[in-house]
Amino acid sequence: MGILYKSTRNDSIRMSASEAILQGLSKDGGLFVPTEIPALDVDIEALAGMNYKDIAYLVMSKFFTDYTEEELTDCINKAYDSKFDTEEIAPVVKAGNAFYMELYHGATIAFKDMALSILPHLLTTAARKNGITDEIVILTATSGDTGKAALSGFADVPGTKIVVYYPAEGVSNIQRLQMVTQRGDNTCVIGVEGNFDDCQGAVKRMFNDPTLTGKMKDAHMRFSSANSINIGRLVPQVAYYVWAYSRLVKSGEIKAGDAINFVVPTGNFGNILAGFYAKKMGLPVNKLICASNDNKVLYDFFKTGTYDKNREFILTTSPSMDILVSSNLERLIYYVSGEDSAKTALLMSELSSKGSYTVDEAMKDGLGDFVPGWADEAENTATIKKVYEENNYIIDTHTGVAACVYDKYVAKTGDVTPSVIVSTASPFKFLKAVLEAVRPHNLQYMSEHDMIYALDEEMGKGKIPNAIKEILAYPIRHRTVCGIDKMEEKLKSFLGIE
Ligand SMILES: *Cc1c(COP(=O)(O)O)cnc(C)c1O
Repeated sequence: MGILYKSTRNDSIRMSASEAILQGLSKDGGLFVPTEIPALDVDIEALAGMNYKDIAYLVMSKFFTDYTEEELTDCINKAYDSKFDTEEIAPVVKAGNAFYMELYHGATIAFKDMALSILPHLLTTAARKNGITDEIVILTATSGDTGKAALSGFADVPGTKIVVYYPAEGVSNIQRLQMVTQRGDNTCVIGVEGNFDDCQGAVKRMFNDPTLTGKMKDAHMRFSSANSINIGRLVPQVAYYVWAYSRLVKSGEIKAGDAINFVVPTGNFGNILAGFYAKKMGLPVNKLICASNDNKVLYDFFKTGTYDKNREFILTTSPSMDILVSSNLERLIYYVSGEDSAKTALLMSELSSKGSYTVDEAMKDGLGDFVPGWADEAENTATIKKVYEENNYIIDTHTGVAACVYDKYVAKTGDVTPSVIVSTASPFKFLKAVLEAVRPHNLQYMSEHDMIYALDEEMGKGKIPNAIKEILAYPIRHRTVCGIDKMEEKLKSFLGIE
């Protein structure tokens, strides 16, 4: 029996995986969830003999049951190839009392590559399977990381175009350079004189504008989205939890069947939710430790049962976790409500009308797989420094939050379960904050270029990732910057529609 997908807000909606991937978000505003979470159903010992692609296939074939073996294998082969700078794809490294799973060896040196390398292929395959011949136009607003990961995933993928809007003054210099040097004739990058919310708001409007979508249709094009609530991004992430487990078995750190913890630096709740799915599939997971920065809306939720986004938005050195509405949490809410779509819809409508909701005691009791923690800026810096000094291992600012939360968890509970810290970005991506943490540098006198080499020196030389070398070497190709009112015009001119 194949697995179908239903909305978290409406139980009567049913569609295939490929249809759900094409649609992204359910029409009722809900998120797609599988009708059942398939069992991993594999001899755990055997996992140790598999490579990353084998495990990706094992996991994805159980969820995406309407894709043929050939289709899925093809998607996986196109995704996890030499775009990654290590054959292992996601190395698991021991440092101190924890293991770090490095999810930053892809094209943009952050974990979103794990899913965005494969999503374009899942999407174009889905279009083909469903008889859609229109060109797929991906519209994305980004606060930095997603934009570049989507651009490099979709660049030169036949049958697609991708347009990314970013706040011209709201991303780091490295993030901007990564985007504006993007190659591929099907890519378009536009700086917007506004903030991330302005970009996102305009993208949502364009998506739902019947005049615009009508013109697109006439030109045989249709919009699609690559954002993190797409089930085609969530499922590929489940694979690396199984992978991490398999590496610990392989290296003899654990015996097949032993439980392990995962510590996840969390923003939109997509990464850690994939860990929850892995656990539900039967992977021996003890605790999922949810690490937040100063924007600790999730910490407060797990502690109190009340989710409240009405609070100050704090800018931190771990910007990809600066989020007050964690969209993927809706899927967890759905599960802990006992798959009650009416209850989920009600709580989500409270979130949009009041900015907060409270779950009942039974639901709160269902959250026991998760342990929340948070770290402030000073604690994060101190942790990066400590990990470096004790283990000669440099972690980025997002991973620093997770490492700090893990230390606090161990100090408080004495839990000695082997633990994997999910490492979400290369330290080269957050140069300034990382350099500042590892040792005092005269950063005010240093160019970006100087900082790259200084960090490489700290790491023992020869460690500069390709993604960084490229931005130093490649010419700027995308120079468009426009006002919010000109965003649609720029899109139409790129697509050649009037
Ligand atoms: C996106 C991101 C996160 C947060 O992941 P979520 O799935 O949104 O919880 C953490 N670290 C980095 C570097 C990221 O890019």
